[in-house]
Amino acid sequence: MSYTLEGKTGTWEIVVGLEVHAQVISHSKLFSGASASYGGEPNTHVSLVDAGFPGMLPVLNQECVAQAIRTGLGLRARINLESRFDRKNYFYADLPTGYQISQFTHPIVGEGTVEIELGDGTVRHIGITRLHMEQDAGKSMHDQDPTRSFIDLNRAGVALMEIVSEPDIRSPEEAGAYLRKLRQILRYLGTCDGNMEEGSMRADVNVSVRRAGEPFRTRCEIKNVNSIRYVMHAIEVEATRQIEVWEGGGEVDQETRLFDPSRNETRSLRSKEDAHDYRYFPDPDLLPLVVEQAWVDELERALPELPDDKRDRFIKQYGIPRYDASVLVAEQAIADYYEEVARGRDARLAANWVTGDLFGALNRTGRSIQDSPISAQALGGMLDLMADKTINGKIAKEVFEDMLETGDSAADIVERKGLKQVTDTGAIDAAVADVLARNADKVEEYRGGKDRLFGFFVGQVMKAMAGKANPAIVNEALKKVL
Ligand code: ADP
Ligand code: MG
Repeated sequence: MSYTLEGKTGTWEIVVGLEVHAQVISHSKLFSGASASYGGEPNTHVSLVDAGFPGMLPVLNQECVAQAIRTGLGLRARINLESRFDRKNYFYADLPTGYQISQFTHPIVGEGTVEIELGDGTVRHIGITRLHMEQDAGKSMHDQDPTRSFIDLNRAGVALMEIVSEPDIRSPEEAGAYLRKLRQILRYLGTCDGNMEEGSMRADVNVSVRRAGEPFRTRCEIKNVNSIRYVMHAIEVEATRQIEVWEGGGEVDQETRLFDPSRNETRSLRSKEDAHDYRYFPDPDLLPLVVEQAWVDELERALPELPDDKRDRFIKQYGIPRYDASVLVAEQAIADYYEEVARGRDARLAANWVTGDLFGALNRTGRSIQDSPISAQALGGMLDLMADKTINGKIAKEVFEDMLETGDSAADIVERKGLKQVTDTGAIDAAVADVLARNADKVEEYRGGKDRLFGFFVGQVMKAMAGKANPAIVNEALKKVL
């Protein structure tokens, strides 16, 4: 499947590369002992290092390095045993040092790859160029006072991972799938919470367009887009703008732009800055970072099972379709829930109940799996009642709804409502006789060759028995009499 845009003069292909900033989960900042937690009263999570006092020295936080290495391993990327920290110089009111410590020529993680899956089942691999560590800046607040701006340095110095993709993405859908996959991997690894609303994951979106088969054309970079939906919109809007420029005989300038979702347009912010504008140089306060392969191996051994591996295992171990497996590994907590329901039971049936009825109920009530009103054990208990034929599939739906509402166990509900399946052939035979007697005309038609009516009789008998009859026995009884 390929995605293209139609211009006035023909078809265009979109080319996208993403630079994602992911805030590292750690207790303290990249080079200081101040708290890295989100929020807090302004300027309470600030050390003298973060505030840029003269003479302060940065001390590298080992846990942040471990998090970057874990992430690199999760992206199936090369880990560089030697990397370096550079100063990237620029002036911002919320950057008290006048430079950001970042990794420029020697990042800690090199080339890797992320597998994405599209709506039609196509699988694609998006290349990772690199991952490097850097500091976040503080925050300027312009909405606190009519005439003054305030600065909050709580975020200044918090560790970020910048994850740069190759220009391998070819559509808004692929960009969305890539970001969702990246977020899923980061969350599994516990290296970033992936919370785009709180800004702990944000994307710079590089977009260009070209005719099929051409070399890449000039790109524009859309800064700091903070939701997956906005990234997808921004690509569409920006690509459309560029096509109009090219088709109008103009040239796309390499520049940095902003996406304005309320007007659905991108606007120029500044012409693209180059590396030399930042006067990068190795930070003289920091030695090159050298890590040992043995430590990398140790971190690798301790990694959790990653989403793609878990999906493949679910397909094999539980015999469920790939689509179901993908849905079930979307979050670690969902996967754990499913495995607890499936253990020792009919795993396909378990998958149907979790992805169907349970997800439906959670969506309706806006809950996550963590606060599901039905625990994995409780759902498993219901499946056990189906397995030992205490209830049939139809009654199970009713029990499930009751469980949602009351939180009672399936066994208690069956007891309270008297929903136990009827397997007593005497009672079923009586109901069959009654239904046939009341529908003599239909019996005539059936015997005259109208086979389809069998289902009608089954339905009538089930109805007469309030849905509680064992369907197999009803079928048998009807066949015998008819
Ligand atoms: P810079 O160092 O100037 O930011 P990079 O070469 O590192 O530039 O690329 C930054 C991002 O832009 C990467 O994600 C890359 O995939 C993407 N990119 C590079 N060329 C193009 C292009 N022609 N169209 C779209 N994206 C591109
Ligand atoms: Mg860049």
